[in-house]
Order: sequence, then C-alpha cells, then structure tokens
Amino acid sequence: MFGNNKALSCSSCNKQLGEGDRIHVSLTLPSERMMPVGVLNKVLQKHANTVYCEKCNSKLIKID
Ligand SMILES: [Zn+2]
Repeated sequence: MFGNNKALSCSSCNKQLGEGDRIHVSLTLPSERMMPVGVLNKVLQKHANTVYCEKCNSKLIKID
C-alpha cells in the first residue's frame, strides 16, 4: 500500500522511485473520457499495473 507516501515505488523490490530515475511502467490505456490527468506520480500510482525500477526491469528481461 502506498498510504500517504507520494513516492512511487518499484512493484518488485519496493525501491522508492524519484526524480531522475528511469522507470518501466505497464499501463492500460483508459478510454478517452476516463483519461487520467494530474501529477504523473499520482496518475501512475492509481493507474499503472506495475512499475519497475531499471534494475528489476533488466532482471525481468534477462529471465525472459
Ligand atoms: Zn526494483
């Protein structure tokens, strides 16, 4: 759970993601009416299926 924490965190290792971090997001595009608008961090917290940090993403690619 994110609680009051504004920071995004990695879905795999829970590392907090912040400015300057490259992130890998799995996102389902909503319909145009439901298009999320706002601070990107918050939008991602609400709508992203998964958010991975660079490390976890490269691990996932290697496993594959
Ligand atoms: Zn990670």
